[in-house]
Amino acid sequence: MDYVIAPPPTPSLPVFGSTQRFPVRRVFCIGRNYAEHAKEMGAAVETGRPMFFCKPADAVVADGSDVPYPTLTNELHHEVEMVLALGGGGRDVAVESAAALVWGVGVGLDLTRRDLQAQAKAKGHPWDVAKAFDHSAPVSALRLLAGALPGPDTELRLTVNGTLRQHARLGEMIHDVPHILAALSTLFELKPGDLVFTGTPAGVAALARGDRFHAELRGYAELGGRIA
Ligand code: MN
Repeated sequence: MDYVIAPPPTPSLPVFGSTQRFPVRRVFCIGRNYAEHAKEMGAAVETGRPMFFCKPADAVVADGSDVPYPTLTNELHHEVEMVLALGGGGRDVAVESAAALVWGVGVGLDLTRRDLQAQAKAKGHPWDVAKAFDHSAPVSALRLLAGALPGPDTELRLTVNGTLRQHARLGEMIHDVPHILAALSTLFELKPGDLVFTGTPAGVAALARGDRFHAELRGYAELGGRIA
């Protein structure tokens, strides 16, 4: 192919136990998927259609990297989440077939400019500047799943400077993985390379420059980094 400028690189993530990398196509995120988090944000706990937003693929930051403190915010918040990596895709995927789309899992932070999000909510503006900024998606190396999805007792944890900030079991999710993917596939055609952030439990709070974070999807993935 003869491009007029150099083509941008394909964002990618490392894979546990492999020298090969997972190429990232799109990053989808579900909002308000744990009841206690919805409550702490002052939102109703809704069990109807899930709410989604997106981040750009090149917002992904690899494990162990510094995350630059973003511009134009004084309230950078962490949201620890299980991240699905899709090896399959489709439109209008049935709940019963959705788990088969998942190639692997990781753990990530849905970093949020909470002050800009509050302004956007108040004005009815889109969330992009609050959610989809550069370096807004640190993600661990991905773990290839040998069949089953992580079970409901799998723990999701985040510590900041050694202090526990967020902790939940996956069974606390309002929409489970098959229902998330089925609903998402009615809005977007899913494809291999897509990442899906599955929502954060309660305990979201601010990160400061110099903070060291450590996120864990126990038994599957770990993510470390520093706010620079
Ligand atoms: Mn989130």
